[in-house]
Amino acid sequence: MTSLRERTVLESWPRIRKRPEELPVRPHLLDYEATRAAFSWEAARAGLTGLPGGGLNIAFEAVHRHAHGARASKTALRWIGKDGSRRELSYAELSAEALRFASALRAHAVTEGERVFLLLGRVPELYVAMLGSLSAKCVVSPLFSAFGPEPIATRIRMGEGAVLVTTPELYRRRVEAIRAQLPSLRLVILVERGETRERPPGTIGWSEFSARGEGAFAVPPTDPEDLALLHFTSGTTGRPKGAMHVHAAVLTHYVTGLYALDLHEEDIFWCTADPGWVTGTSYGVIAPLVHGVTNLVVEAEFDAQLWYRILQDEKVTVWYTAPTAIRMMMKLGAEAAKGYDFSRLRFSASVGEPLNPEGVMFGLEAFGRPFHDNWWQTETGGIMIANFAATDVKPGSMGRPLPGIEAAIVRREADGTVRVVDEPMVEGELALKKGWPSMFRGYLGEEERYRKCFAGDWYLTGDLAKKDEEGYFWFVGRADDVIKSAGHLIGPFEVESALMEHPAVAEAAVIGKPDPIAGEVVKAFVVLRPGFRASEELRRDVLGHARKRLGPVVAPKEIDFRDGLPRTRSGKIMRRLLKARELGLPEGDLSTLESDERPTGAAP
Ligand code: ATP
Ligand code: MG
Repeated sequence: MTSLRERTVLESWPRIRKRPEELPVRPHLLDYEATRAAFSWEAARAGLTGLPGGGLNIAFEAVHRHAHGARASKTALRWIGKDGSRRELSYAELSAEALRFASALRAHAVTEGERVFLLLGRVPELYVAMLGSLSAKCVVSPLFSAFGPEPIATRIRMGEGAVLVTTPELYRRRVEAIRAQLPSLRLVILVERGETRERPPGTIGWSEFSARGEGAFAVPPTDPEDLALLHFTSGTTGRPKGAMHVHAAVLTHYVTGLYALDLHEEDIFWCTADPGWVTGTSYGVIAPLVHGVTNLVVEAEFDAQLWYRILQDEKVTVWYTAPTAIRMMMKLGAEAAKGYDFSRLRFSASVGEPLNPEGVMFGLEAFGRPFHDNWWQTETGGIMIANFAATDVKPGSMGRPLPGIEAAIVRREADGTVRVVDEPMVEGELALKKGWPSMFRGYLGEEERYRKCFAGDWYLTGDLAKKDEEGYFWFVGRADDVIKSAGHLIGPFEVESALMEHPAVAEAAVIGKPDPIAGEVVKAFVVLRPGFRASEELRRDVLGHARKRLGPVVAPKEIDFRDGLPRTRSGKIMRRLLKARELGLPEGDLSTLESDERPTGAAP
């Protein structure tokens, strides 16, 4: 369909055409429209096994069903430690360890529905404890291991945690002092390495705990609607919310693993996210295991050369990462990736923040494959909108809804109802038709807030977007971050993407700054690439570029150069904090703040 409307700055990037017949593996989703038309959640259920007595349990689908049969001795987890040490667990081994953990929970009188908190780095025990707790029908809440005492205490208190699995170091440094504030916590299990020093009172060692468990444990009947996971949101826009997820979510993990990540039996899959963030659980644990692939876990934090070496040496075929890491690699330039062999990499995807067109293209330049942006939230539990292996990529677009997902652009009316916007590229709130399996079932302790997320059949995401004639969605910005200037609604993403096109710019974030005439004007915070120095001349040059690309109304009026931008532990730029500081307002909840100073060290 052709249209006479003007194309946006983002749309000016050339489309990446796919030739599916040339791809090394035949993608699961070849014909987008036909796959969508034929799809039903009921039929997709055939890809899962279900518990012997009926019902659905995430851990059973992820590991136990593979533990006897063709995949029993296949590597499920390939773990690479910080010091380069390795550990491999086959499906049979991972299943047995998880069942032992589940049985040990019972032996310690932990019952169905009780909450198990995980405060661990990416160590094998994290995966065993998560799958074990789900097997025992406990509710799992993974936390970032870098959280300080206050965020830990708040979350365990909110979630009424009964069990905590952590390490002796983390316990001493972060938990011991707040233990008295956590009366619900009955059992603290410490994952010890090497010599055991004297154990703090009120804790038990992993081995001692496990010794009371047995290898044989039958996963109890699990209703698909039983609670499984409690995930706290990233806290990008305010105080983190506790999103509650049920065992039925595994069907979304299965379907999105199939269509959005295109997982095939022989894949070596690497999701770089930490399980403290929903991506690291849905796709760092569940989806790859459900598909029976080999799931790579890297304990170390981001380091470009390490990552390139891992992609090469481990022969990673499918890679799922985040814009924050992609920007860090871009900062070093595609040159830094030369000399590595990425020929096994078949598909790479990104989530968490909008992926600038520059980022998509960097994938092509550095790895020979574009990054495929996809969109979802803690609340959605799994990928909702994606660029697919076999379909054209429009750089700067987050792609199209997954089979089984209906997405629309809507406007909220004064009477509380919503109206679907049909005109192409008109912005509104991104909404999803209720009822996909991994939809959150509540915000912990915030019923009213949960209710307000819905209008009729729609779940309202709080993100603004547009949809083009071909059904591709384009992210505009979070509703909270949108700037209103001289009667225009300005989305930060497009402005930031235009700034990123400038050769000196490594990262950019924009906010609205109050202005007596325009209401708000756009102010940009820019991090420069190595080799560039902040100067008045450079400022004028970047502003000039932005004005040329965006026009005078939308382009920033002011630019501040910074060494880094504030970001969450999941790697997201915190525009609200930039704004609060700019305006001298209270900084709000900082429990998920990762770093202010440098964009390195983030845990994407
Ligand atoms: P909080 O809700 O606590 O403010 P958060 O929204 O960042 O934090 P998450 O659930 O981790 O918490 O992130 C989901 C949000 O991340 C989305 O609503 C969206 O704003 C952003 N996001 C994720 N993926 C993309 C993407 N591909 N493009 C644009 N934005 C994205
Ligand atoms: Mg959110």
